[in-house]
Amino acid sequence: MAKVAFIGLGNMGSGMAANLAKAGHEVRAFDLSDAALAKAEAAGCIRAASAAEAASEADVVVTMLPAGKHVEDVYENSILGAAPKAAILIDCSTIDVTTARKVIADAEAAGYQMVDAPVSGGIAAAEAGTLTFMCGGTDKAFEAAQPFLEIMGKAVIHAGGAGAGQAAKICNNMLLGASMVATCETFALAQKLGLDPQTFFAISSQASGQNWSMTSYCPVPGVGPQTPADRDYEGGFATALMLKDLKLAMEAAQSVNAYTPMGAEAEELYTRFANLGGAGKDFSAIIKMIDDSWEKPADA
Ligand code: NAD
Repeated sequence: MAKVAFIGLGNMGSGMAANLAKAGHEVRAFDLSDAALAKAEAAGCIRAASAAEAASEADVVVTMLPAGKHVEDVYENSILGAAPKAAILIDCSTIDVTTARKVIADAEAAGYQMVDAPVSGGIAAAEAGTLTFMCGGTDKAFEAAQPFLEIMGKAVIHAGGAGAGQAAKICNNMLLGASMVATCETFALAQKLGLDPQTFFAISSQASGQNWSMTSYCPVPGVGPQTPADRDYEGGFATALMLKDLKLAMEAAQSVNAYTPMGAEAEELYTRFANLGGAGKDFSAIIKMIDDSWEKPADA
């Protein structure tokens, strides 16, 4: 049984921390939100008064925070120095590659092993322990983190050195955003050309247009497997989070002078959809902006 510090018990972190506790580890949990702490306690975690207190005797520190500035702040001000030097530090948040590399470099300079380990999979996968982790860091750090990530996920992949997990995550999500938009406009065109969406799905899902956004996450209600489209685009992966990842991808592309026109177009379209009040809807709901059936909510 290891002592785990878990910082950031929101939509994703709450299920992940609960799975570590369920596996028999002693999880000392901290979040700025009292409600999140109460939920973690009910799931078998021990409430800590601060991130530094949670980390003070930890063998493992896991963070699941909103963005790069939170990750930098928590590591620089609460974890580095407070956690024992032998602890393995694991940041599972989705953040920019530059900050991920900086925090890992600072952690290594302070004598720690650390990986960036962002996830693919949403709230349901976090609760079920079926996330995919993409990891960046040294072989030694990856090997130390792996057994704990395996409790929370179904796949744990070492992508390369520091920041490689974040690079893999934003490249994957740029492809996902662009492929979802392409899938949406394709179904909208097919319908305008008089094709039944179920029939088009049966053809294209077995032809060269086949892709995950169509076969596993079809944006058309009633077509393909059950998806957020069948629940009025509730749950799933919010447009706001897709937009966050597309912005990170564009920032990364700019930093290395990469030409990413499809990613840029996807970012622009998701920005428009968020501004039309779609930020809280699943990202496949963008089909409603594309086929012109979206009704802007009164409060947007
Ligand atoms: P969330 O906003 O629900 O949770 C973040 C938690 O961090 C909140 O409870 C907040 O109170 C806490 N927090 C913020 N600053 C803190 C601090 N200084 N100390 C302690 N706690 C602090 O976000 P989420 O949906 O759980 O996402 C977390 C990360 O996972 C993000 O980087 C997100 O991009 C990524 N992600 C989310 C999903 C998803 O479907 N929600 C999927 C994949 C990746």
